[in-house]
Amino acid sequence: MQPSQPVTTDELLASFVDDESFAIGLDETDALKHHRDRFHIPKRPDGKDVIYLAGNSLGLQPTTVRSAIEQELDDWSRLAVDAHFDGKNPWYPYHEMFRESAARLVGAVPGECVIMNSLTVNLHLMMVSFYRPTEKRFKIVMEDGAFPSDTYAIKTQLRFHGFDPADGLILLKPREGEHTLRTEDIVQTIERHGDEIALVMISGVNFFTGQVFDMRQITHVAKNCGCVVGWDLAHAAGNVPLRLHDWGVDFAAWCNYKYLNAGPGAVAGCYVHDSHGRNTDLVRFGGWWGNDPETRFKMHLLPDFHPRPGADGWQISNPPIMAMAPVKASIDIFDEVGMDALREKSLRLTGYLQFLLDRHTSHAFEVITPREPAARGCQLSILVHDKPRDRFEALQKQGVVSDFRQPNVIRVAPVPLYNTFRDVWTFAHTLTKEL
Ligand SMILES: *Cc1c(COP(=O)(O)O)cnc(C)c1O
Repeated sequence: MQPSQPVTTDELLASFVDDESFAIGLDETDALKHHRDRFHIPKRPDGKDVIYLAGNSLGLQPTTVRSAIEQELDDWSRLAVDAHFDGKNPWYPYHEMFRESAARLVGAVPGECVIMNSLTVNLHLMMVSFYRPTEKRFKIVMEDGAFPSDTYAIKTQLRFHGFDPADGLILLKPREGEHTLRTEDIVQTIERHGDEIALVMISGVNFFTGQVFDMRQITHVAKNCGCVVGWDLAHAAGNVPLRLHDWGVDFAAWCNYKYLNAGPGAVAGCYVHDSHGRNTDLVRFGGWWGNDPETRFKMHLLPDFHPRPGADGWQISNPPIMAMAPVKASIDIFDEVGMDALREKSLRLTGYLQFLLDRHTSHAFEVITPREPAARGCQLSILVHDKPRDRFEALQKQGVVSDFRQPNVIRVAPVPLYNTFRDVWTFAHTLTKEL
């Protein structure tokens, strides 16, 4: 399904032992262990590090963020307007610093990605260009249990074009008694409604269940039916390997504050396939930063909007430098470590969590995230049958930071950049002790 899956679940799980010293041993031989020191880890009242398993919600702060912001503050105080060209990281072409690293992150070619706005804003801007409904082909396919912002964005886009969401939305639902979607069912729905569907827009990783969708196959099937395909990569970017360009994905957007650690409300990412990026006639909402920089200031001679080719041509305003500096500090870490190495550790780290939870699974809880490594990233979602809220609060009291979703799901995401196998072991034992 996804690239890079070196092990089967069984082989992986058979290699583990439920023992704290075994977990510590895995940490000692972990090639990525020193990256933990590059992050600020919140402390418990007794001064020890918390067990932070909420990196899928808000990633930890890289230690380099503060100086990255200070650099821009210094340039502002020292150079003011001249920092646009003479600053250490000149502000005028600031967004260009991300061109290559953002492309590497999502498997794009340089020019297909830009860092701008926030995620939901980017989804709207993408739908302006890529949701172009006709009387016959106007429907949008999405998951039933999507993140609320995506549901609101899609429903309001439908209304914007004069459609009732009751007619325009096709919701993908799990089968009776199941928690996650089957690829075959998604494919069948798309093929059944093929010529009515204008857009398929699903999240690459579902925020609630942690399920990783088969983006390659779904994109392929939907494009064969003549649909446009966009992915919300909020929980996928920095978590699982992506090959957006090769998969032929039309557009995508992601936030940079979850697995990407660029801070609350960080400036987001946006991807537009090269075949669309080169089409400067494509309908869009314009602003000066999307215009070709060569002609941007020739407005008395060239008053019309001439978008720059590539994803850059969807920018509207000039980049918020103070907010972009943390994105640079953080994406540099991903660039240095590489998604392949992160995924490799992540498969083992989350595999270890799966193994430990398997040993204690009882009537009290069940993991609803798919078991196959290809269908999950860092996160496991644990459905707690008995007193879920109390269990979650008990974890919090023990210094374990996880996330609770109504009515009964605890989400945990050990992330390969800063979590340890011992974190995973401690969490599993705290949870099962509480149960
Ligand atoms: C986190 C998340 C968002 C958040 O949207 P913002 O515009 O960044 O506030 C949207 N969609 C999904 C799927 C998410 O996981």
